[in-house]
Amino acid sequence: MVKVPYNRHTAMSRRAVFARDGHRCGYCGAPADSIDHVVPRSRGGSNVWENVIAACRACNLRKRDRTPEEAGMRMSSVPRAPRELSWIVYSVPRVPEEWKPFLAVAS
Ligand SMILES: [Zn+2]
Repeated sequence: MVKVPYNRHTAMSRRAVFARDGHRCGYCGAPADSIDHVVPRSRGGSNVWENVIAACRACNLRKRDRTPEEAGMRMSSVPRAPRELSWIVYSVPRVPEEWKPFLAVAS
């Protein structure tokens, strides 16, 4: 058995967040093309799994620097740190074609 080191701070990346959220906007379900901080960075929100969610451009623009409650937006699921994700992200032999647009944005 291979033990994958788990560290929520180093393991998190845009690519990993998109993978966790299925490349779908956490607010409306449209294809996601950005990462939203649930509590905005400008408001003290941190860059951790529980505070980031994949979002489409429209929702990101609409939400701006507000919390979902303030913006009147509902998250389809509560973001959390997925323990299996490091396995998914780091063990793929090849990046799937459909991930590439997201990786281009991330890099
Ligand atoms: Zn959306």
